[in-house]
Amino acid sequence: MRAAPSQDEVRRQNLGALLRYVHVHGPISRAELTTRLGLNRSTIGALTADLTAAGLVREEAPRGARRAGRPSLVVLPESGRVYAYALSIEVDRLRAARVGLGGEVLDERVYDRPRDLRVSEVVGPLSAFVKEMQHAAPEGGRYVGVGVAVAGMVRRHDGLVRLTPKAGWVDEPLSEPLAEALGGDHTVKVGNHANLALMAEHLRGVAVDTEDVIYLHGEVGIGAGIIAHGTLITGHGGYAGEVGHMIVHPGGRTCSSCGARGCWESEIGEEALLRALGTDGSGRIPAHQLIAAMRGDPGSHEALRQIGEWLGLGVANLVNIFNPEMVIFGGTLRNLYLTTAAQVRSRLNSLALPASRELLRLRTPKLGEDAALIGAAELAFTQLLADPLG
Ligand SMILES: [Zn+2]
Repeated sequence: MRAAPSQDEVRRQNLGALLRYVHVHGPISRAELTTRLGLNRSTIGALTADLTAAGLVREEAPRGARRAGRPSLVVLPESGRVYAYALSIEVDRLRAARVGLGGEVLDERVYDRPRDLRVSEVVGPLSAFVKEMQHAAPEGGRYVGVGVAVAGMVRRHDGLVRLTPKAGWVDEPLSEPLAEALGGDHTVKVGNHANLALMAEHLRGVAVDTEDVIYLHGEVGIGAGIIAHGTLITGHGGYAGEVGHMIVHPGGRTCSSCGARGCWESEIGEEALLRALGTDGSGRIPAHQLIAAMRGDPGSHEALRQIGEWLGLGVANLVNIFNPEMVIFGGTLRNLYLTTAAQVRSRLNSLALPASRELLRLRTPKLGEDAALIGAAELAFTQLLADPLG
Protein backbone atom coordinates (compact mmCIF):
# COMPACT_ATOMS: atom_id res chain seq x y z
CA MET A 1 0.00 0.00 0.00
CA ARG A 2 1.25 3.45 -0.85
CA ALA A 3 1.88 5.69 2.16
CA ALA A 4 -0.23 8.84 2.39
CA PRO A 5 1.67 11.89 1.14
CA SER A 6 3.44 13.87 3.85
CA GLN A 7 2.41 17.44 4.68
CA ASP A 8 5.46 18.72 2.83
CA GLU A 9 4.49 16.76 -0.26
CA VAL A 10 0.93 18.07 -0.15
CA ARG A 11 2.21 21.62 0.22
CA ARG A 12 4.62 21.16 -2.71
CA GLN A 13 1.83 19.78 -4.88
CA ASN A 14 -0.49 22.63 -3.96
CA LEU A 15 2.19 25.26 -4.61
CA GLY A 16 2.84 23.66 -8.00
CA ALA A 17 -0.86 23.53 -8.82
CA LEU A 18 -1.37 27.19 -7.95
CA LEU A 19 1.70 28.39 -9.81
CA ARG A 20 0.81 26.27 -12.82
CA TYR A 21 -2.73 27.63 -12.86
CA VAL A 22 -1.50 31.22 -12.88
CA HIS A 23 1.20 30.36 -15.44
CA VAL A 24 -1.33 28.86 -17.85
CA HIS A 25 -4.40 31.04 -17.25
CA GLY A 26 -2.93 34.41 -16.26
CA PRO A 27 -4.24 36.82 -13.60
CA ILE A 28 -6.94 35.33 -11.41
CA SER A 29 -8.56 36.36 -8.14
CA ARG A 30 -7.92 34.50 -4.91
CA ALA A 31 -11.64 33.76 -4.72
CA GLU A 32 -11.58 32.15 -8.17
CA LEU A 33 -8.48 30.13 -7.24
CA THR A 34 -10.24 28.60 -4.24
CA THR A 35 -12.96 27.34 -6.61
CA ARG A 36 -10.62 26.21 -9.40
CA LEU A 37 -8.16 24.38 -7.16
CA GLY A 38 -10.72 23.11 -4.64
CA LEU A 39 -8.74 24.49 -1.66
CA ASN A 40 -10.03 26.68 1.14
CA ARG A 41 -9.40 30.42 1.40
CA SER A 42 -6.79 30.26 4.12
CA THR A 43 -4.78 27.62 2.22
CA ILE A 44 -4.87 29.73 -0.94
CA GLY A 45 -3.79 32.75 1.13
CA ALA A 46 -0.83 30.85 2.63
CA LEU A 47 0.28 29.36 -0.72
CA THR A 48 0.05 32.75 -2.41
CA ALA A 49 2.10 34.32 0.36
CA ASP A 50 4.82 31.66 -0.09
CA LEU A 51 4.93 32.12 -3.86
CA THR A 52 4.99 35.89 -3.46
CA ALA A 53 7.87 35.70 -1.00
CA ALA A 54 9.74 33.54 -3.52
CA GLY A 55 9.21 36.22 -6.19
CA LEU A 56 7.15 33.95 -8.44
CA VAL A 57 3.79 35.74 -8.27
CA ARG A 58 2.50 39.06 -7.05
CA GLU A 59 -0.87 40.32 -5.93
CA GLU A 60 -2.77 43.38 -7.01
CA ALA A 61 -6.11 44.94 -6.30
CA PRO A 62 -8.44 44.11 -9.21
CA ARG A 63 -8.79 46.82 -11.81
CA GLY A 64 -12.01 48.77 -11.86
CA ALA A 65 -13.32 47.11 -8.71
CA ARG A 66 -16.34 49.08 -7.61
CA ARG A 67 -18.24 46.65 -5.51
CA ALA A 68 -18.68 47.40 -1.87
CA GLY A 69 -16.42 45.62 0.60
CA ARG A 70 -12.87 44.43 0.22
CA PRO A 71 -12.30 42.96 -3.27
CA SER A 72 -10.47 39.65 -3.63
CA LEU A 73 -6.85 40.26 -4.64
CA VAL A 74 -5.73 39.20 -8.10
CA VAL A 75 -2.74 36.84 -8.34
CA LEU A 76 -0.43 37.32 -11.37
CA PRO A 77 2.71 35.53 -12.55
CA GLU A 78 5.93 37.56 -12.23
CA SER A 79 6.37 37.36 -16.02
CA GLY A 80 8.98 40.05 -16.36
CA ARG A 81 11.16 38.69 -13.55
CA VAL A 82 10.94 34.92 -13.85
CA TYR A 83 11.77 33.57 -17.27
CA ALA A 84 13.26 30.84 -19.39
CA TYR A 85 15.26 30.92 -22.58
CA ALA A 86 13.77 29.16 -25.57
CA LEU A 87 15.85 28.22 -28.60
CA SER A 88 14.69 26.92 -31.95
CA ILE A 89 17.01 25.19 -34.40
CA GLU A 90 15.43 25.27 -37.83
CA VAL A 91 16.84 24.41 -41.25
CA ASP A 92 17.25 28.02 -42.38
CA ARG A 93 17.11 29.93 -39.10
CA LEU A 94 18.20 29.89 -35.51
CA ARG A 95 15.82 31.65 -33.15
CA ALA A 96 16.05 32.50 -29.48
CA ALA A 97 13.60 34.08 -27.08
CA ARG A 98 13.31 35.08 -23.47
CA VAL A 99 9.91 33.82 -22.34
CA GLY A 100 8.38 34.93 -19.06
CA LEU A 101 6.44 32.80 -16.61
CA GLY A 102 2.95 32.98 -18.08
CA GLY A 103 4.23 32.24 -21.58
CA GLU A 104 4.89 35.80 -22.74
CA VAL A 105 7.72 36.32 -25.27
CA LEU A 106 9.74 39.18 -23.74
CA ASP A 107 12.65 39.37 -26.17
CA GLU A 108 13.55 37.57 -29.39
CA ARG A 109 16.51 37.09 -31.78
CA VAL A 110 16.74 35.51 -35.24
CA TYR A 111 19.75 34.44 -37.28
CA ASP A 112 19.46 33.27 -40.90
CA ARG A 113 21.79 30.29 -40.93
CA PRO A 114 23.54 28.37 -43.66
CA ARG A 115 22.20 24.82 -43.86
CA ASP A 116 25.43 22.94 -43.40
CA LEU A 117 26.27 24.18 -39.90
CA ARG A 118 27.49 21.51 -37.52
CA VAL A 119 26.28 21.30 -33.94
CA SER A 120 29.42 23.05 -32.71
CA GLU A 121 28.63 25.91 -35.09
CA VAL A 122 25.09 26.55 -33.88
CA VAL A 123 26.05 26.46 -30.22
CA GLY A 124 28.07 29.68 -30.59
CA PRO A 125 25.35 31.95 -32.03
CA LEU A 126 22.65 30.47 -29.77
CA SER A 127 24.61 30.96 -26.59
CA ALA A 128 25.57 34.47 -27.75
CA PHE A 129 21.85 35.27 -28.14
CA VAL A 130 21.13 34.06 -24.62
CA LYS A 131 23.96 36.12 -23.17
CA GLU A 132 22.82 39.18 -25.12
CA MET A 133 19.24 38.83 -23.89
CA GLN A 134 20.44 38.15 -20.37
CA HIS A 135 22.40 41.39 -20.52
CA ALA A 136 19.30 43.28 -21.70
CA ALA A 137 17.02 41.70 -19.07
CA PRO A 138 16.00 43.78 -16.06
CA GLU A 139 18.12 43.36 -12.96
CA GLY A 140 16.99 41.05 -10.23
CA GLY A 141 15.32 38.63 -12.64
CA ARG A 142 15.47 34.88 -12.26
CA TYR A 143 16.35 32.56 -15.12
CA VAL A 144 15.06 29.04 -14.63
CA GLY A 145 16.50 27.10 -17.55
CA VAL A 146 16.78 26.60 -21.28
CA GLY A 147 14.53 24.65 -23.66
CA VAL A 148 15.49 23.84 -27.22
CA ALA A 149 13.23 22.89 -30.13
CA VAL A 150 14.94 20.93 -32.91
CA ALA A 151 13.40 20.08 -36.25
CA GLY A 152 14.57 16.47 -36.11
CA MET A 153 14.39 13.23 -34.15
CA VAL A 154 15.17 13.68 -30.47
CA ARG A 155 15.70 10.84 -27.98
CA ARG A 156 13.19 11.12 -25.19
CA HIS A 157 15.27 10.44 -22.11
CA ASP A 158 18.34 12.58 -22.77
CA GLY A 159 17.61 14.86 -25.73
CA LEU A 160 20.20 13.27 -28.02
CA VAL A 161 19.55 14.49 -31.57
CA ARG A 162 19.31 11.28 -33.62
CA LEU A 163 18.72 12.80 -37.04
CA THR A 164 18.01 16.15 -38.65
CA PRO A 165 17.07 16.68 -42.29
CA LYS A 166 19.53 18.57 -44.54
CA ALA A 167 22.10 19.46 -41.88
CA GLY A 168 22.62 15.70 -41.59
CA TRP A 169 23.21 15.58 -37.85
CA VAL A 170 23.28 11.99 -36.64
CA ASP A 171 23.42 11.10 -32.93
CA GLU A 172 24.59 14.53 -31.80
CA PRO A 173 24.52 15.53 -28.13
CA LEU A 174 23.16 19.07 -27.92
CA SER A 175 22.27 19.87 -24.32
CA GLU A 176 25.81 19.33 -22.96
CA PRO A 177 27.65 21.61 -25.43
CA LEU A 178 24.96 24.27 -25.03
CA ALA A 179 25.08 24.10 -21.23
CA GLU A 180 28.85 24.33 -21.38
CA ALA A 181 28.79 27.35 -23.73
CA LEU A 182 26.24 29.09 -21.50
CA GLY A 183 28.25 28.52 -18.36
CA GLY A 184 26.66 28.25 -14.95
CA ASP A 185 24.60 25.25 -13.93
CA HIS A 186 21.56 25.65 -16.12
CA THR A 187 19.72 22.63 -17.37
CA VAL A 188 19.20 22.53 -21.11
CA LYS A 189 16.28 20.37 -22.26
CA VAL A 190 15.82 19.38 -25.88
CA GLY A 191 12.59 18.41 -27.65
CA ASN A 192 11.19 17.89 -31.11
CA HIS A 193 9.84 20.96 -32.91
CA ALA A 194 6.39 19.54 -33.75
CA ASN A 195 5.86 18.13 -30.24
CA LEU A 196 6.79 21.41 -28.57
CA ALA A 197 4.67 23.51 -30.93
CA LEU A 198 1.76 21.17 -30.22
CA MET A 199 2.34 21.43 -26.47
CA ALA A 200 2.16 25.25 -26.74
CA GLU A 201 -0.96 25.25 -28.92
CA HIS A 202 -2.62 22.77 -26.56
CA LEU A 203 -1.79 24.87 -23.50
CA ARG A 204 -2.33 28.39 -24.85
CA GLY A 205 -3.31 28.31 -28.49
CA VAL A 206 -5.88 26.96 -30.88
CA ALA A 207 -6.05 23.49 -29.27
CA VAL A 208 -6.95 24.48 -25.71
CA ASP A 209 -9.70 22.12 -24.50
CA THR A 210 -9.06 19.55 -27.23
CA GLU A 211 -8.04 16.07 -26.13
CA ASP A 212 -7.21 14.57 -29.52
CA VAL A 213 -5.16 16.77 -31.78
CA ILE A 214 -2.45 16.43 -34.42
CA TYR A 215 0.01 19.24 -35.14
CA LEU A 216 1.68 18.88 -38.54
CA HIS A 217 4.91 20.78 -38.94
CA GLY A 218 6.42 21.35 -42.36
CA GLU A 219 9.83 22.77 -43.08
CA VAL A 220 12.18 20.80 -45.30
CA GLY A 221 10.62 17.58 -44.03
CA ILE A 222 7.30 16.90 -42.39
CA GLY A 223 6.77 15.87 -38.78
CA ALA A 224 3.86 15.64 -36.37
CA GLY A 225 3.08 16.03 -32.73
CA ILE A 226 0.13 13.89 -31.65
CA ILE A 227 -1.98 14.19 -28.51
CA ALA A 228 -4.39 11.29 -28.06
CA HIS A 229 -6.89 11.37 -25.21
CA GLY A 230 -4.96 14.23 -23.63
CA THR A 231 -1.55 12.52 -23.71
CA LEU A 232 1.37 13.32 -25.99
CA ILE A 233 2.28 10.22 -27.99
CA THR A 234 6.07 9.96 -27.72
CA GLY A 235 6.67 6.36 -28.75
CA HIS A 236 9.19 4.17 -26.95
CA GLY A 237 12.31 6.19 -27.73
CA GLY A 238 10.63 9.55 -28.40
CA TYR A 239 10.40 9.25 -32.16
CA ALA A 240 6.66 8.93 -32.71
CA GLY A 241 5.12 11.27 -35.23
CA GLU A 242 7.57 10.88 -38.13
CA VAL A 243 4.60 11.08 -40.46
CA GLY A 244 6.74 12.50 -43.27
CA HIS A 245 8.02 8.97 -43.80
CA MET A 246 4.58 7.42 -44.02
CA ILE A 247 4.47 5.70 -47.42
CA VAL A 248 1.72 7.28 -49.50
CA HIS A 249 3.03 6.56 -53.02
CA PRO A 250 4.55 3.08 -53.35
CA GLY A 251 7.13 3.11 -56.12
CA GLY A 252 7.24 6.92 -55.93
CA ARG A 253 10.33 9.05 -55.54
CA THR A 254 13.22 8.07 -53.31
CA CYS A 255 13.10 10.05 -50.08
CA SER A 256 16.35 11.98 -49.70
CA SER A 257 16.04 11.83 -45.94
CA CYS A 258 15.28 8.15 -45.18
CA GLY A 259 15.97 6.42 -48.49
CA ALA A 260 12.56 4.73 -48.84
CA ARG A 261 10.36 5.30 -51.87
CA GLY A 262 7.08 7.17 -51.81
CA CYS A 263 7.33 9.00 -48.47
CA TRP A 264 4.72 11.67 -47.79
CA GLU A 265 7.40 14.36 -47.48
CA SER A 266 8.66 13.55 -50.98
CA GLU A 267 5.23 14.69 -52.19
CA ILE A 268 4.57 17.71 -49.95
CA GLY A 269 7.97 18.67 -48.48
CA GLU A 270 10.51 21.17 -49.72
CA GLU A 271 11.76 19.01 -52.59
CA ALA A 272 8.24 18.71 -54.01
CA LEU A 273 7.78 22.47 -53.86
CA LEU A 274 11.15 23.10 -55.52
CA ARG A 275 10.32 20.59 -58.25
CA ALA A 276 7.06 22.39 -58.90
CA LEU A 277 8.95 25.68 -59.14
CA GLY A 278 11.29 24.06 -61.65
CA THR A 279 14.38 24.56 -59.52
CA ASP A 280 16.64 22.30 -57.52
CA GLY A 281 18.14 25.26 -55.71
CA SER A 282 17.67 23.78 -52.28
CA GLY A 283 18.10 26.51 -49.69
CA ARG A 284 18.19 29.45 -52.10
CA ILE A 285 14.61 30.27 -51.23
CA PRO A 286 14.18 29.70 -47.48
CA ALA A 287 11.72 26.88 -46.78
CA HIS A 288 9.22 29.22 -45.11
CA GLN A 289 8.99 31.42 -48.26
CA LEU A 290 8.45 28.69 -50.85
CA ILE A 291 4.65 28.67 -50.93
CA ALA A 292 4.56 32.45 -51.40
CA ALA A 293 7.01 32.03 -54.31
CA MET A 294 4.74 29.37 -55.85
CA ARG A 295 1.64 31.49 -55.46
CA GLY A 296 3.42 34.24 -57.34
CA ASP A 297 4.33 31.87 -60.18
CA PRO A 298 1.29 30.98 -62.37
CA GLY A 299 3.27 28.10 -63.92
CA SER A 300 3.28 26.23 -60.63
CA HIS A 301 -0.40 26.61 -59.70
CA GLU A 302 -1.42 23.21 -61.09
CA ALA A 303 1.48 21.58 -59.26
CA LEU A 304 0.38 23.35 -56.09
CA ARG A 305 -3.11 21.83 -56.46
CA GLN A 306 -1.53 18.39 -56.86
CA ILE A 307 0.54 18.92 -53.73
CA GLY A 308 -2.67 19.90 -51.95
CA GLU A 309 -4.16 16.55 -53.01
CA TRP A 310 -1.18 14.72 -51.49
CA LEU A 311 -1.52 16.79 -48.35
CA GLY A 312 -5.19 15.78 -48.07
CA LEU A 313 -4.39 12.12 -48.71
CA GLY A 314 -1.86 11.96 -45.87
CA VAL A 315 -4.19 13.80 -43.49
CA ALA A 316 -6.96 11.32 -44.39
CA ASN A 317 -4.69 8.44 -43.33
CA LEU A 318 -3.93 10.15 -40.02
CA VAL A 319 -7.61 10.88 -39.44
CA ASN A 320 -8.47 7.21 -39.99
CA ILE A 321 -5.77 6.12 -37.53
CA PHE A 322 -6.20 8.71 -34.76
CA ASN A 323 -9.70 10.14 -35.16
CA PRO A 324 -8.50 13.60 -34.02
CA GLU A 325 -10.90 16.44 -33.31
CA MET A 326 -8.39 18.91 -34.72
CA VAL A 327 -5.50 18.95 -37.18
CA ILE A 328 -3.21 22.01 -37.07
CA PHE A 329 -1.09 22.96 -40.07
CA GLY A 330 2.14 24.63 -38.93
CA GLY A 331 5.43 25.77 -40.49
CA THR A 332 5.35 25.65 -44.30
CA LEU A 333 2.17 23.58 -44.13
CA ARG A 334 0.25 26.58 -42.84
CA ASN A 335 0.47 28.40 -46.16
CA LEU A 336 0.23 25.19 -48.15
CA TYR A 337 -3.01 24.32 -46.38
CA LEU A 338 -4.45 27.84 -46.72
CA THR A 339 -3.66 27.77 -50.45
CA THR A 340 -5.02 24.27 -51.11
CA ALA A 341 -7.81 23.94 -48.52
CA ALA A 342 -10.30 22.91 -51.24
CA GLN A 343 -8.10 19.98 -52.34
CA VAL A 344 -7.40 18.95 -48.75
CA ARG A 345 -11.12 18.97 -47.89
CA SER A 346 -12.07 17.06 -51.00
CA ARG A 347 -9.45 14.34 -50.35
CA LEU A 348 -10.57 14.06 -46.75
CA ASN A 349 -14.19 13.71 -47.84
CA SER A 350 -13.36 10.97 -50.31
CA LEU A 351 -10.71 9.05 -48.32
CA ALA A 352 -11.32 9.43 -44.59
CA LEU A 353 -14.07 7.42 -42.94
CA PRO A 354 -17.16 9.56 -42.29
CA ALA A 355 -17.28 8.63 -38.60
CA SER A 356 -13.59 9.46 -38.15
CA ARG A 357 -13.83 12.89 -39.77
CA GLU A 358 -17.31 14.04 -38.79
CA LEU A 359 -16.25 16.40 -35.98
CA LEU A 360 -12.80 17.23 -37.39
CA ARG A 361 -11.66 20.84 -37.42
CA LEU A 362 -8.74 21.96 -39.61
CA ARG A 363 -6.83 24.89 -38.14
CA THR A 364 -3.63 26.95 -38.36
CA PRO A 365 -1.53 27.76 -35.25
CA LYS A 366 -2.80 30.58 -33.05
CA LEU A 367 0.69 31.21 -31.70
CA GLY A 368 2.09 31.38 -35.24
CA GLU A 369 5.82 30.95 -35.57
CA ASP A 370 6.30 31.38 -31.83
CA ALA A 371 4.58 28.07 -31.03
CA ALA A 372 7.78 25.98 -30.88
CA LEU A 373 9.61 28.66 -28.86
CA ILE A 374 6.79 28.86 -26.32
CA GLY A 375 6.74 25.05 -26.17
CA ALA A 376 10.50 24.98 -25.62
CA ALA A 377 10.07 27.44 -22.75
CA GLU A 378 7.50 25.06 -21.22
CA LEU A 379 10.21 22.38 -21.13
CA ALA A 380 12.41 24.76 -19.18
CA PHE A 381 9.58 25.67 -16.76
CA THR A 382 8.72 22.03 -15.95
CA GLN A 383 10.96 21.72 -12.92
CA LEU A 384 9.91 25.06 -11.42
CA LEU A 385 6.24 24.18 -11.77
CA ALA A 386 6.73 20.76 -10.19
CA ASP A 387 8.49 22.18 -7.14
CA PRO A 388 8.23 26.00 -7.04
CA LEU A 389 10.28 26.50 -3.88
CA GLY A 390 12.73 23.63 -4.48
ZN1 LIG B 1 11.35 9.12 -45.99
